[in-house]
Amino acid sequence: MYITSAAVVTIAAVYLTLLIPETKAATPQIISRAQWGARAAKRRSPNLTMHPAPYVVLHHSTGANCDTQAICQLRIRGFQNYHMNSKGWADIGYNFIVGEDGNIYEGRGWGKQGAHSKPFNNKSIGICVIGDYTNRTPNTAAVQAVQRLIDHGVSIGEIKNDYKLLGHRQTWQTACPGNSLYTMMQSWPHWAPAA
Ligand SMILES: [Zn+2]
Repeated sequence: MYITSAAVVTIAAVYLTLLIPETKAATPQIISRAQWGARAAKRRSPNLTMHPAPYVVLHHSTGANCDTQAICQLRIRGFQNYHMNSKGWADIGYNFIVGEDGNIYEGRGWGKQGAHSKPFNNKSIGICVIGDYTNRTPNTAAVQAVQRLIDHGVSIGEIKNDYKLLGHRQTWQTACPGNSLYTMMQSWPHWAPAA
């Protein structure tokens, strides 16, 4: 039993050594609600009724961008206050938020209905890029963060393999996610010309 235990430990150690770098590469760091100083939601968001989500809907926040975590967190707390105080929503409307600091921030998170893309809230993951992308595209850090987040969602079974990527303007009468970002995203994997 001695030898067996030692062998098991050795095998486990080798396995973990091999496994850990792979896991790290595949799992993007997501800044949690606690980390960015979220308020508690007024009530629990309902689960998506179509799961894994068949759609990803992209937004821009309009207004100022941010390229440091401190400023991005400040902006996100502002969105949450606006959504809860002025719009009367239960929580920040987006599932995730991405900044030009290259970070991904947790909003309502995976598997939950947001308040971002009526009538797609029950079947989509809503991602907002902080800033106004009417006349310029988001930087590489933000674009890569969006892609890492979507790829991760697919890999953990939260987003369908054959998901459709839409701009908010495809689901509602709005200019969101801005002309430049909307043009850019049409070259991204899974962008669909129609829902
Ligand atoms: Zn939008």
